[in-house]
Amino acid sequence: MLKRKLGATDMNVSVVGFGGIPIQGVPPEEADRILRRAIERGINFFDSARGYTNSEEKIGHALEGVRDRIFLSTKSLSRKAPKLAAEIETSLRSLRTERIDLYQIHSVASLDDLERVLSPGGAYDVLVDARAAGKIRWLGITSHSREVMLKAIETGRFDTVQFPFNPIETEWEESVIPAARKAGVGTICMKPLAGGALVNRELALRFELTRGMDVVIPGMDSVAQVEENAAVGEKVIPPGENELARLEAERARWGETFCRRCGYCMPCPNGLNIPFLFLIDGYYTRYELKDWALSRLAGLDKKFGDCEACGECLEKCPYKLAIPDMMKAAAKRVI
Ligand code: SF4
Ligand code: SF4
Repeated sequence: MLKRKLGATDMNVSVVGFGGIPIQGVPPEEADRILRRAIERGINFFDSARGYTNSEEKIGHALEGVRDRIFLSTKSLSRKAPKLAAEIETSLRSLRTERIDLYQIHSVASLDDLERVLSPGGAYDVLVDARAAGKIRWLGITSHSREVMLKAIETGRFDTVQFPFNPIETEWEESVIPAARKAGVGTICMKPLAGGALVNRELALRFELTRGMDVVIPGMDSVAQVEENAAVGEKVIPPGENELARLEAERARWGETFCRRCGYCMPCPNGLNIPFLFLIDGYYTRYELKDWALSRLAGLDKKFGDCEACGECLEKCPYKLAIPDMMKAAAKRVI
């Protein structure tokens, strides 16, 4: 497995890391088998989140005996200081470790949200305190918004950035990836298979790893997926001309129906959380996480069927997605 330094950190990570979302739905013994096989295949970077239900616990359980050989990364959605401090303690317990290698502020949605995170006494200061106390080593941020990522890089306060980059979501190449590389900020590629939309796993990972991403973190819920992903990391070859043409065709096919979760369409006057609803739809239809998707949907006041097709979001979506039609189709699929 090839390894790379993650930005300017001292973490020499396997180019293929382990994304911790799908492992939530796997029975515990099988999760152990999958995670241990990942280690055997040279994967040494494991990314989870407080929001991924039992993912941290499963990773902590399976990897306890090899802690010194791996890098643990997790994140929290919490923006309030006491809550985030408590979340870090929970992550430490769940991951069965005394120190987490990378802790990220999860899913920063807007510049206002970033400002809150960075304000005195805010979430960022909690991470700094945790680092001073030896509980975490490096500080990161995740977002689906390019403005947020650019600003976060510009502040010089984050060691890594994690965002969705794949052959469908290539917009990040214009400014974010070059800015991160110039600043020595590590680039972590979430959603390398576009939330299950891309079926040629090997080609997608090769694309991302040769376009400026330090590490890709596909989610894995079977040993077969571990084998397939790990094989890519042994020899990373840039896609050839024909392969790029195939990816371009995929991009064109999905371009008008794939939500990038950028949030530009918000707010919806009718109270729908448009990007989150499409995220739920993706997990319901493309991943084997139907229960998880339904539990998230149950927590929302407004669901797919509540779209009144007012059309206000249409002109705000830079990707020209037919949002009301997509809501209607999702309402039929998911509920
Ligand atoms: S619907 Fe369009 S604007 Fe809204 S989050 Fe998705 S891609 Fe962005
Ligand atoms: S069309 Fe539907 S999702 Fe879009 S703004 Fe109107 S109610 Fe909200």
